[in-house]
Amino acid sequence: MHEFKYKNNQLYCEEIKVQDLAERFDTPLYVYSYHTLIDHFQKLKTAFHSINPLICYSVKANSNLAILKALVDKGAGLDIVSGGELFRAIRVGCPAQKIVYASVGKTDREIEEAIKRGILFFNVESLPELENINCIATRLNKVTNAAIRINPDVEPKTHKFITTGKLTNKFGIDFATARKILLVRDKFSYLNICGLHIHIGSQITESAPFVSAIKKMVRFINNLKKIGIRLEYLNIGGGLGIIYDKENPQTAKEFAKKILPLLKKTELKIIMEPGRFIVGNAGILVTKILYIKVTARKKFVIVDAGMNDLIRPALYDAHHQILPLHNQSTIHNSEKADIVGPICESADFFAKERLIPKVREGDYLAIMGAGAYGFSMSSNYNSRCRAKEVMVVKDKAFVIRKRETQEDLIHNEIIPPFLLGI
Ligand SMILES: *Cc1c(COP(=O)(O)O)cnc(C)c1O
Repeated sequence: MHEFKYKNNQLYCEEIKVQDLAERFDTPLYVYSYHTLIDHFQKLKTAFHSINPLICYSVKANSNLAILKALVDKGAGLDIVSGGELFRAIRVGCPAQKIVYASVGKTDREIEEAIKRGILFFNVESLPELENINCIATRLNKVTNAAIRINPDVEPKTHKFITTGKLTNKFGIDFATARKILLVRDKFSYLNICGLHIHIGSQITESAPFVSAIKKMVRFINNLKKIGIRLEYLNIGGGLGIIYDKENPQTAKEFAKKILPLLKKTELKIIMEPGRFIVGNAGILVTKILYIKVTARKKFVIVDAGMNDLIRPALYDAHHQILPLHNQSTIHNSEKADIVGPICESADFFAKERLIPKVREGDYLAIMGAGAYGFSMSSNYNSRCRAKEVMVVKDKAFVIRKRETQEDLIHNEIIPPFLLGI
């Protein structure tokens, strides 16, 4: 379910014509639907209400303050992976006790800040990291919670770049090592090692990998119980897939039905970390057609957004549906084209050999499903100013990030005096 629909052949976001947004705010433009965002959060919450999990939205999927604030206001916690994300979480008023922090490479400064803030727990990814957090907590004289991130060695059947729960991935700790750590957990005098965490990958459309990973966790938790090791939290991570193309992902309800019985067995407090599921289909990238270039072999639709704005096709060969804002498409006037950006890289494309309705220079296109890992992965490559972002709430549109200026591009750069002849 999302709020981007055609009415009278015009694409709308909630109650506003996307064409009007493009003309008013210029392109490239990210457009988010507030109600789609909240609806996806509520769907998950409803599906799992019987165990009342803490749903920590994964900030890296889309870290705009307005998106975070909207979710935090609805009771979401936040899953962070850096000091910068902690800063954002605090800035939007997320209670520290609803923040969980994963990353294989947390620095001392990041750890110190998170301990001082009193986050719910660290998801710890290695023994050296565990020792380091204990050391810093000791110095700060503040007992801190930790969950061990387990690498359950399951195949999530997704793109290899977004697979994170195989033993060849850098993430988490294997079961045997985790067991050894838990046996001596009292040794970490300033750490309360009270939970386990998994996150096996992203854009996972089937329930089987989740079920398999959680089953492994339940077995592990039961074995721990037998030797007197009791825990408080089980964090099942994120990774729920969405529809980009022809996927048929499980709904929140179906997902819950499959894993609720397993989760209940653990008797632990459950944490979830969805990112893409919540924000992925709540955003689109609107772009303008600059040129239509016909060569001997191909037709190129050259648009004003580039891989610096949305890198998923270049990075993961990801599919995004691309729609005209004015839909008069019939089979007859459709043709195949490559939709490409202006950047000096052949990987700068949004679609290849895609059947699209006949379009003209000056028309706009909507790149769908761009809410997650869209703006948050954008860059200034080719010295391009990053896009503007707007949030639509019914018939109102709010700018939630201004378009960058050329001055922003050079803001932190310094020419040393010797080059200036000083
Ligand atoms: C990226 C990430 C998530 C969110 O993944 P989605 O696929 O967007 O749901 C959750 N937890 C951790 C630890 C992550 O790194």
